[in-house]
Amino acid sequence: MYFSDPTPAPHEPPLYFDAWTEIGPRARKHREESWSLEHLRSEMEQCSISGALVADTQTVHYDPLFANLRLSRLLEGDPRLYACWNLLPPGTGEFPEPEPLAGLLREHDVRAVAIHPRSNSWDFLSPLHQPFFERLAREGRPVFLARSEIGGYDELERFLRACPGLPVVLTGAVWSEQRFVLPLLRAFSHLHLTFERFQVHCGLERLVADGLEDQLLYGSQAPLRSMGAHRAYVDYADIPESARKKIAGGNLRRLLNGAGPSAALVNRSEDAFMHAARHGRPIEHIDLHMHVLDTGLNGGGGWYRMEQGDGPGILRLLRRLGCVGGGLMSWNGTVGCDAVEGNRCTAAALESFPETFWGLATLDPSHYSRSELECQMEAVYRDPRFIGMKPYFHYGVPYHDASYDPWWQYGNRRGFYALLHRVLPDFSEVASLAARYPAVRWVVAHSASDFATAEMAIACAREFPNVYLEITYTPTLRGIIEFLARGAGEERVLYGSDLPMRDPRQQFGWVVFSSLSARAKRKILFENALKVVGPSFAPAARLASPDL
Ligand SMILES: [Zn+2]
Repeated sequence: MYFSDPTPAPHEPPLYFDAWTEIGPRARKHREESWSLEHLRSEMEQCSISGALVADTQTVHYDPLFANLRLSRLLEGDPRLYACWNLLPPGTGEFPEPEPLAGLLREHDVRAVAIHPRSNSWDFLSPLHQPFFERLAREGRPVFLARSEIGGYDELERFLRACPGLPVVLTGAVWSEQRFVLPLLRAFSHLHLTFERFQVHCGLERLVADGLEDQLLYGSQAPLRSMGAHRAYVDYADIPESARKKIAGGNLRRLLNGAGPSAALVNRSEDAFMHAARHGRPIEHIDLHMHVLDTGLNGGGGWYRMEQGDGPGILRLLRRLGCVGGGLMSWNGTVGCDAVEGNRCTAAALESFPETFWGLATLDPSHYSRSELECQMEAVYRDPRFIGMKPYFHYGVPYHDASYDPWWQYGNRRGFYALLHRVLPDFSEVASLAARYPAVRWVVAHSASDFATAEMAIACAREFPNVYLEITYTPTLRGIIEFLARGAGEERVLYGSDLPMRDPRQQFGWVVFSSLSARAKRKILFENALKVVGPSFAPAARLASPDL
């Protein structure tokens, strides 16, 4: 049905019109996080994003009308930026009544509005507000609603039923909510979705195949998040060009009754990585963080649905992106806490992968004795494709606990590497292991999850030369990969995606569209991984760094 052609013909980049950006001060912001209009404009230039619908935090956290008008003044004269106003219901004396409000929206050419029923404390489901929404529907203005502004998805369903003529755009839905969101998208054609957190493996392919292409909007929540991360999901989508254009910006333009940027904005000083990605061309790279499901599965239990998450499914997508090697680990052995079954699953999956892909085994000190672990260890590493150690935090045992020592000693002798998702909130486990087992390369997963974590990761990498920082995480914060590379050195940062739990394309675009040099991107996407696995993995010698 899709991924029929794993090495796609390059396409002309569509015009990107970002449906979900937000500027303005906010509570508890880390000083490194982006937040201003200047950040937004600079990110658009960097990632070749031609236009954006702009929200402002102060329209929620200060008087909405006052801040809405200020936002419109701020964006006035910029043909690429469109204000999205926050509305309050009528009747409280804080906001104009429907008639003058309609006049104000027309006067300031406001084509889209948002509501914040939780933050602004009002009941958007009350029948009393029905005329308010019916009027918006008649005027053809889409209403933006963030996931964090509703309780359960039953509230969204009631809203959609009550307002059948009102285009609703849901932002902030997460990939772990697919079982709620997918049925709603199919049932209500007036529901639209941005996917800055809905990083569903093979998601656009699935949704377009289901006939939902008119309901999908590129939206990034820049400048907090990277615009490039989220455009890469569209750039590399295996969908018809007509659908790519709609998702990149055409659907938003339609919802705004034809408004949108008239000219494409292209970063004339982009490097070869960004150029290739914008045209959907594969870029050779290595992925340090990949899970795999048993053949034929589309999910991993729990809240994890993973479209085409088995070996053949992930390999098709990896080829499309240009992934030439990487480390596979199980899902059932890590998140599912069945290490023995997980190692079997990984070994079976490796059969369908090229020899430049390797395996990470998981061992479990909470269900098995020391001698049982030693037997399992010998058995799994008899297979030379296994060169990695992947303990997991769900087992609840900190990695510097003595029960793990035989594994680390074994890995230290054989020159293995480990991928650590920390059990403890600090880096004490990593520091303890890095000092005691110098021959192991300790790769810390999710080092780019947030800036506070990145600061701890940098301090640890500076102290220990055998510590490396792998990036993958849903928030895809703008500037954080650059921050890690500046702090720890670009030789110490590694690309990993966590597929198929997340789609790899956002994580990939996060690196590709960063402001790092092409040289640094090559290290993060390729060369540093060879340094980590090279000592114990002979086929790594066959992977030459691409000449991009
Ligand atoms: Zn993972």
